Amino acid sequence: MTERDSEENANPAVSGSRVLKFGEGRISGYLSALFGICALLGVLCFIFPEWLTTKELRATLYSFSFVKNLLWLGIVIAFVTGIISYILSPRKRLAATGIGTALVAVLLGAFNVQERAVADVPFSFGVDWFVLSLVFSMAIFIPLEKAFARHPLAVLRPEWRTDLTYFVVSHLAITFFLLFTNAVQVYVFGWAHSAAVTEFAQSLPVWLQFLACVFIADLCQALTHRWYHQVPWLWKFHSIHHSSRNMDWLAGSRTHFVEALATRSAVIVPLYVINFSEPALNAYVVLVGVQAVFVHANVRWDFGFLEYLIVTPRYHHWHHSDDPEYANTNYAVHLPLVDMLMGTFRLPDKTWPDTYGVFGQEPPKGFLPQLAYPFVSTPRRESADDGSLS
Ligand SMILES: [Zn+2]
Ligand SMILES: [Zn+2]
Repeated sequence: MTERDSEENANPAVSGSRVLKFGEGRISGYLSALFGICALLGVLCFIFPEWLTTKELRATLYSFSFVKNLLWLGIVIAFVTGIISYILSPRKRLAATGIGTALVAVLLGAFNVQERAVADVPFSFGVDWFVLSLVFSMAIFIPLEKAFARHPLAVLRPEWRTDLTYFVVSHLAITFFLLFTNAVQVYVFGWAHSAAVTEFAQSLPVWLQFLACVFIADLCQALTHRWYHQVPWLWKFHSIHHSSRNMDWLAGSRTHFVEALATRSAVIVPLYVINFSEPALNAYVVLVGVQAVFVHANVRWDFGFLEYLIVTPRYHHWHHSDDPEYANTNYAVHLPLVDMLMGTFRLPDKTWPDTYGVFGQEPPKGFLPQLAYPFVSTPRRESADDGSLS
């Protein structure tokens, strides 16, 4: 994976063989492989729901008939696009992958799945969360980024495999993340509950609870985030997120799991201690899911005065600039107000950064080297001297 990514990095973002064009059978081939693999994973979720699906999502995000219809649609798409690719493309591997995996899904009983009671198990993989997130994120963001691109960027841009690996791992491990943050809440901060605070918070209208949730969560996130920029050892974890040189919806997935766990806990704990009502918390969780992807997207939309109220792609893109003057600003991910209060708000008029990436010492390329990076390499002095850790 690392070798192929560095090989891709040698190419400009939109040139060479990575650019997909209509009529070559490669777009249909990738679609077939994507839907075939997702259909196979989907049918495995129906067979082993205890181990491959997430209890919380089964209860809140989808119904049995919705995912069953989606599975059938995925199989049809995999077959149709697979046949188109097989006819158009001289290379049959993608079509064979799509048709082959869809066929296995059918043989495993995809058209005969039955709803049944799901036993409680201590741990499961979020295959359902991964498949649903991937399919819907791609369906929304790829057309948007094609139509409104700020920077010319191929769908299969450099290092897409690395970022997709982050996407896969973080989604499959969702139950682990939920268990971890839950344990931190209950066992470490269980003592901090106050009936009076909870009573006051829950007496507020839900919309106000939601706004308070977003503000408190973003303030905690931004303070932790600034800490990651200021402490050299923590910067080694966070520099991985900043190492994306191409910003798009998938780039935001690149986050070291230690940072993801620590930041999630720092945000969730105060909300848990205050104990806002469930509708307010659920609305906040949806906002996080959408905005975390959206602010990285390669869309050139101008939001006018709203850019001072809500964090937009342009706002967060400046945080990913490889110029430390800008990268050490705009820590908020929801509300620019948080950066205004922290004195770290910076939004140049109308313009976007030309280049993105890490200033100072660059992390290695590839998922596994990046996973190990904070624990094995020694920081070079100049990375602190060039303003990266100010
Ligand atoms: Zn940052
Ligand atoms: Zn980011």
